[in-house]
Amino acid sequence: MSLPLHTFATLQGFGPHARLLKALSLREALKSSFPPPSVAVDLRDPGLGDVDPAALAGAGYGAVVGMPGHGAASAAAGLPLVHSLRRDDVVAPGDVVRVEPKGSRISVLYRRGANSNSLFVTERCNSLCLMCSQPPRPDDDGWRLDELIDLVGLIDPDLSMLGVTGGEPTLLGRGLTRLLEATRAKLPSTRLHILSNGRLFHDAQLVERMAAAVGRATWAIPLYADIARVHDHVVQAPEAFEETLEGIHNLAEHGHAIEVRFVAHALTVPRLQGLAEFIWRNLPFVEHVALMGLEPMGFTRRNRDVLWIDPAEAGKAVANAAEYLARRGMTVSIYNTPLCLLPKVAWPLARRSISDWKQDYAPECEPCSMRDGCSGFFSSADLSWRGKDIRPIRDHEVMTV
Ligand code: SF4
Repeated sequence: MSLPLHTFATLQGFGPHARLLKALSLREALKSSFPPPSVAVDLRDPGLGDVDPAALAGAGYGAVVGMPGHGAASAAAGLPLVHSLRRDDVVAPGDVVRVEPKGSRISVLYRRGANSNSLFVTERCNSLCLMCSQPPRPDDDGWRLDELIDLVGLIDPDLSMLGVTGGEPTLLGRGLTRLLEATRAKLPSTRLHILSNGRLFHDAQLVERMAAAVGRATWAIPLYADIARVHDHVVQAPEAFEETLEGIHNLAEHGHAIEVRFVAHALTVPRLQGLAEFIWRNLPFVEHVALMGLEPMGFTRRNRDVLWIDPAEAGKAVANAAEYLARRGMTVSIYNTPLCLLPKVAWPLARRSISDWKQDYAPECEPCSMRDGCSGFFSSADLSWRGKDIRPIRDHEVMTV
């Protein structure tokens, strides 16, 4: 089962405002270089014995994650306490959480050991894709930037990859420059993977402001067809195809790494082979092409009638396009597509791509020999989205790959 990113807890001694805290075991807290006021020492391990909250307060730590029994001593020491989490396993040492006194909500903004972590920079977007899994909202959410810059300072510096997502991150303009500079300063060895529609990069001046990303980030930019009419319709934005292509070229000229992304559905699959040929002829410099299955959330659910395609049919088309590009030396991956929906020849290109917290398997997966290497499904994909072709792969089929 996927582990949620939110839970509720009893909060004691917190002021009215939300706080960002790095949960650390006592042992790690004592030797860590994270600023103590931003550290919540996790005392839930019963093997720890009695730890005096007054000593932790004296050392400057910001809070304690503990048990109800820590209440009196924490209050006496003036140390805020989080206890009685509705789901205890949602928060673990190493995680960074937002503690919201209003509503007693705990949100995990960084999860140590997760297969993906992202900075969610804005809910605003300048496109309105028919299959957007996180529909944009127009509200000004500029408050996120300062929190994200604080968050970057609390992420484990040995993290290998960090996503940047939205909404459309480039709408932050100079704010995105600040965020990129903060990641360069605090997480110098972490690679960034930035999801953007690339449209605003038709302005070369904006590209110049993203210099902090050169050499350490990949811009992941969607192209849904080889022709403007289809791409513009899918993203519901006239001129988007041209702006995106100009943006990709501007980024490349300035030394940025680029990934082209594609999402398979009924409107895009008919152009997929044409798109593969287009990418090979016009964008051979991109470092990666990611061909992805649909996530049935947000607008995708609302637009099911125009988007749904038999997943087995989509799998075949994706496998053909992937093979076409791979044969020409391009680096290609297939995301969010179960192995049993792909011809065997495409299995080496398929990735276990769905984030832990929203990934699931079907009952058919129980006896499957390839389960550990399979993306499975988005937990939001019920039977009606999975199609009729899910079937366990047996040992002898694996042996003949
Ligand atoms: S049966 Fe399940 S685990 Fe096996 S390949 Fe299909 S989706 Fe993946």
